[in-house]
Amino acid sequence: MIPQATSLDREAPGLYLHVPFCTSKCRYCGFYSQPLAGRDADRLVSALVREVQEYRNVAAVRTIYIGGGSPTSLPVHRLAGLIETVASIWPQAQEFTVECNPGQVGVEMLSMLARRGVNRLSFGVQSFHAAELELLGRRHTTDDARRSIEHAQDLGFDNVGIDLIFAIPGSTLASWEYCLRSALALGVQHISAYSLSFEPGTPLDEARRLGQIESVDEETDRAMYEMTIDCLASAGFAQYEVSNFARDGFACRHNQGYWENRPYIGIGPSAASYWQAERTANVADIDTYIHRMEAGSSPIEERDRPNRADRICETAVLNLRTRKGVDLIEFHRRTGANFREVFELPLRRHERAGLLEVTADRVRLARTALAVADSVLCDFSAF
Ligand code: SF4
Repeated sequence: MIPQATSLDREAPGLYLHVPFCTSKCRYCGFYSQPLAGRDADRLVSALVREVQEYRNVAAVRTIYIGGGSPTSLPVHRLAGLIETVASIWPQAQEFTVECNPGQVGVEMLSMLARRGVNRLSFGVQSFHAAELELLGRRHTTDDARRSIEHAQDLGFDNVGIDLIFAIPGSTLASWEYCLRSALALGVQHISAYSLSFEPGTPLDEARRLGQIESVDEETDRAMYEMTIDCLASAGFAQYEVSNFARDGFACRHNQGYWENRPYIGIGPSAASYWQAERTANVADIDTYIHRMEAGSSPIEERDRPNRADRICETAVLNLRTRKGVDLIEFHRRTGANFREVFELPLRRHERAGLLEVTADRVRLARTALAVADSVLCDFSAF
C-alpha cells in the first residue's frame, strides 16, 4: 500500500528561489535567465517576496537555496532584502546556500551574506583556464574566482563549493587535472563536476554545428570523469552523487533532498515545485511572472500529479544517482513498493553486466556504471 502523499508532504520541504537575471548570457547556458541590463530588479524582488509569503504558513523548511541565473547580479541591498524575508520566516533551516558568480561578489556582498545567516556558498567557477572561460562566455577571470573564494573564507565561510565543467573543447586530461588541483588548492569543501553539454539553441552548440569548435571525444570525456573521481578521492572528497563530491559532512543537503525525492517549493520565474503531491512549474517569463504576482494571481503554468508508478520510478532513478543508492527499506516506506519486485528485469540484467551492486538491503551503481549512469537509469524510469 502506497503511503498517502500528504504523509510525505508533512516532511519539511526544501525551498529554492530562482533569480533569473545574469549580467550577460554564457554561450553554453540552457537555463532560464535574462540579461539584467534594462530590467527592473526591484519589481522582480518584490514579486519573489510576494510568492515567498504565500508559503509563510509552511511551518519549517529543511534547506534554502537561492540560485539562478545569478543571484549575485542583484544589487546588494535587494538580495539582502530577499534573504531577510526568507530567513525571518524560516530561521531554523539547516542549510542556507547562495550561488555566487565569481566576478560579482566583492567584500560588501560577501559580508552581507555572512551577516544574514547564509552558511553555504556555491561558486560557478567552471574552469581555471582563461581561454576556456572565454570560450564559455563567462565574464569572470580565474583571478576573480580565486579572490572571491579567499575573501569568503576570510569572512568565515567554512562551507564553500565550486562548480567545474570538463570536456570543454580544446581541453586535455592535463588541463583538466590542473582545474581539479586548482580547486583543491583553494581549500573548498565541495566540488561539482559536469561534462560540458551542448544545449540546443545555444551559441556554443551553433559553433559546434558550424565546425568552429570540436567537442572532446567520448573516450577523453570519460577519462576526465574517471580522473575526477580518483583525484578527488585521494584528496579526501567522497563522491556522494554521480557529479558531486564533498569532504566529510559537507554534502549539499538541499540537493540531497532532490535525490531522496523529498518535497520542495520553487519560487520565481520557471521554478519547479514538488509540493502537496503535485509537480508544478512557474511561468518561464519574467514579465508575465511579475504581472501575475502583482495582480495576485498564480505564477503556476504547469501542473502534474504523479501517479503511483511515476512516484516509484522517480524515486528509483533519483536514489540511484547517489553513491548510497537505493535503501530498500526506505524505498518501501516512501513508495509502498518492493524495489526488487518492481524492477526485477533491469536489476537482473545490470547486475549480471556488473553495472549494479546489489546487497540484502541496498542497490547502487557500480563504479563502472557511473560514467554511463544515464543509460542504466533510463531502464528504471518505467516498469
Ligand atoms: S551565469 Fe549561469 S545562469 Fe547565467 S548565463 Fe551563465 S551559465 Fe547561465
